[in-house]
Amino acid sequence: MKVSPVEQLFTLFNETSLRLQEELECSFLEALAETGENLFHGSILQEELSELTTKWLKKQYEEIRMDQYSNEEIRKAFQLAILKGMKELSQPNHQMTPDSIGMLAAYLVGKFMKEPSIRLLDPAVGTGNLLLTILNYIDKKAEAVGVDIDDLLIKLAYINANLQQQPVQFFNQDSIEPLFIELADAVIADLPVGYYPNDVRASDYEVKADEGHTYAHHLFIEQSVRYTKPGGYLFFIIPNGLFESDQASKLHDYMKEHLLIQGILQLPLSMFKNKNAAKSIFIVQKKGDGIKPPKQALLVDLPSLSNKAEMDNILVKIDKWFKENKG
Ligand code: SAM
Repeated sequence: MKVSPVEQLFTLFNETSLRLQEELECSFLEALAETGENLFHGSILQEELSELTTKWLKKQYEEIRMDQYSNEEIRKAFQLAILKGMKELSQPNHQMTPDSIGMLAAYLVGKFMKEPSIRLLDPAVGTGNLLLTILNYIDKKAEAVGVDIDDLLIKLAYINANLQQQPVQFFNQDSIEPLFIELADAVIADLPVGYYPNDVRASDYEVKADEGHTYAHHLFIEQSVRYTKPGGYLFFIIPNGLFESDQASKLHDYMKEHLLIQGILQLPLSMFKNKNAAKSIFIVQKKGDGIKPPKQALLVDLPSLSNKAEMDNILVKIDKWFKENKG
């Protein structure tokens, strides 16, 4: 049976990571980052390896020509290897954004943004899976900035981007601290959900809770708006209960002042473990001179994304909304 390109690459990532994991006594994900670095640099960077392992790795890498694989083949194989490594961990906020959401987001960013060339920001870039899916699928020239507080995830993201030769600048920092970046045309983020622990930093934000810790996802929304050009669009993957929490009124007030709501697309429940974990894509536009709100917001309950017939119907509905509201 013929082995697909994604399987070939996954086997390379997996087997070389296992060998590095054993010899460097590290986690699978750390070993995956090491093997990715080796592949990108075309040499073996870990000096502490035995001669036997160095030789074996060289042979594995020589059997593969990365330039013969498409970006999507590389991303998918890397995604599978990350998923395998993540099974060792179990932090819900570190979950990679699935392809299906990334492809839909690429479609939406492409529809909303009129410019032929755009600058994207993902302030919760994680492994880069969401951002790179968008960069691979979007129908325009795009460059991007990715920020994440987790040093291992962002290392995986930067290797992921390097192997796909995508122009992304990465910053390993807390995104709620000041960012030293140019303003973005659009923001895309699968928001981390929970409390933000630093109340002093949160006090710089309008959405700050009157008492106790502020929700990190609220701070992420405000921070993202600060780094978006007036008239720019923001696409957030949010928990469905965003507007019903105890701190929601602060967020409402903030949004009224700074944002124009474009739409909410509820992702199918079947994508999530349970109703409470379910999410939506929330689309807003930063206010600016001459920017008008849509006549009505785009409200969609998405069917299972693999159901082609129902998805086609929804895409027709979205197209119609664009003609009537953004034409
Ligand atoms: N879209 C990402 C992907 O495809 O891998 C997954 C994003 S994940 C749902 C949320 C991310 O937010 C995690 O990677 C987490 O490390 C990051 N995060 C949480 N708090 C943060 C903070 N204060 N500053 C920067 N990143 C943060």
